[in-house]
Amino acid sequence: MTSSTRPSLKRDLSSIVGGDHTLVGTIPEAYTHDEALELDPVEPMAVVFPTSRDHVGELIKYANANLLPLVPRGSGTGLSGGARPVDNGVVCSFEKMNRILAIDTIDQTAMVEPGVTLDQLEQALTDTPYFYPVYPGEMSASLGGNVATNAGGMRAMKYGVTRHNVLGLEFITGSGVRSRSGGAYVKTSSGYDLTQLIVGSEGTLALVTRVLLRLSPRAHYRTLVLASFGKFEDIAVAVDSISRRGLLPSILEYMEASGLRAMAEHAGINLGVTAEVSSSTAAYLMVELEAMNYDDLEWQTNLLVEVLTGHNSTEQYVLDETQRRGLISARESAFWTVKKLGANVILDTVVPRSKLTELFKGAAACARERNAVLVGTGHVGDGNVHLSLFQSDPIECHATANAIIELAQELGGTISGEHGIGLAKRSYLLEHEDPARLSLMNSIKSIFDPLNVLNPGKLL
Ligand SMILES: Cc1cc2nc3c(=O)[nH]c(=O)nc-3n(C[C@H](O)[C@H](O)[C@H](O)COP(=O)(O)OP(=O)(O)OC[C@H]3O[C@@H](n4cnc5c(N)ncnc54)[C@H](O)[C@@H]3O)c2cc1C
Repeated sequence: MTSSTRPSLKRDLSSIVGGDHTLVGTIPEAYTHDEALELDPVEPMAVVFPTSRDHVGELIKYANANLLPLVPRGSGTGLSGGARPVDNGVVCSFEKMNRILAIDTIDQTAMVEPGVTLDQLEQALTDTPYFYPVYPGEMSASLGGNVATNAGGMRAMKYGVTRHNVLGLEFITGSGVRSRSGGAYVKTSSGYDLTQLIVGSEGTLALVTRVLLRLSPRAHYRTLVLASFGKFEDIAVAVDSISRRGLLPSILEYMEASGLRAMAEHAGINLGVTAEVSSSTAAYLMVELEAMNYDDLEWQTNLLVEVLTGHNSTEQYVLDETQRRGLISARESAFWTVKKLGANVILDTVVPRSKLTELFKGAAACARERNAVLVGTGHVGDGNVHLSLFQSDPIECHATANAIIELAQELGGTISGEHGIGLAKRSYLLEHEDPARLSLMNSIKSIFDPLNVLNPGKLL
């Protein structure tokens, strides 16, 4: 289908989702991209806004009949181009399928449509003892997008990533098969686990129409400690020791000193770090502890400070509530800070925690050798670091990113810990992934989506 067929396209799509829910012709700029820094925008032929699973089923049928690429989109906050339109394709935006269908405080679950945002769910749970713990920082992201990317975020060390918090799905495959998987139980040993196959499949196998989420009890007390370190090596050892001593922080992040300075400045917060400490610091750890009672929190905090000082942390700041909120919100905004500063690529490689020091040192060397600037922050508690590369020549920048990814793989890690492959990291996957695994993935794709209408050119 080409742009010359647009009048019939508008008529056909309108007959499925309604004229009010079809955009053809002038497409708002927001739908031409997601937040991947390295990709150019592409204008889709149309954007449709289904409001029911029947609409989604009909759209898939129409896409197959016309070999029309369908690009699913949640809130467009993805960092790998998964929701970036493709040439002559139609964007299927789930933003109007945004109902919270049930919150069950007995089974501790929530059933939501895919367009529900993290913010919306958090608001709906305010008056319950529960919360949804997956916290990718960007609260406007949708649950459908979270499922498709297997989003992680700051609380993964304690609560796991999206796949650990999704109990079931309703979905429609690229071939039009409607199915449900999982349920309100935590164990299953009843055949292939389709929920886990769809989670992280980036809209290439099926469109998700409902998500059954597992909720967690909300802690009553929490505190945030910021610790400065003169050497990166000490950070990795301290992280290991925090875990070995039995502490399970709800947040365990590291920030290079320059990164923290930029974030604090951007957010206008004063963390009480003196100029003297700041000038001798290589990086900081940000550790959030939580508990159901105050005594437990106090015990954990004392133990944490003991562990940190025992591993050469130069200073520890137990932040007050304003500073705590300010720093977490600044950390949430880290992406916007590096974007504003002109970062060209963000890598989210993950390695075993024991290899973090080698990754820090090796990545810095890769950047230095190629005259790139590298700033790191990230989920150090689970070995997933975010490396912002500043290198304006796209070919050079790709080479630097490739070298860092190769290093992460040599260290036993992988390309993306949570942002997904999408379009931005596809070339790295095709180059570095085991051919046998790629071949199995292609076979699975051909069963779920034989005509390749769902998000073609993404991931594989
Ligand atoms: C400031 C900022 C901070 C971030 N921090 C983190 C972080 O810490 N951890 C993290 O994991 N991510 C992070 N992200 C990335 C992003 O928020 C996540 O990838 C999120 O899961 C994307 O959700 P979305 O609704 O915006 O999805 P989109 O970007 O719209 O889409 C993402 C993928 O999901 C597919 N998709 C969307 N809906 C469906 C559906 N219903 N069925 C099938 N496929 C679908 C799309 O095709 C695409 O492949 C951050 C982003 C920003 C901007």
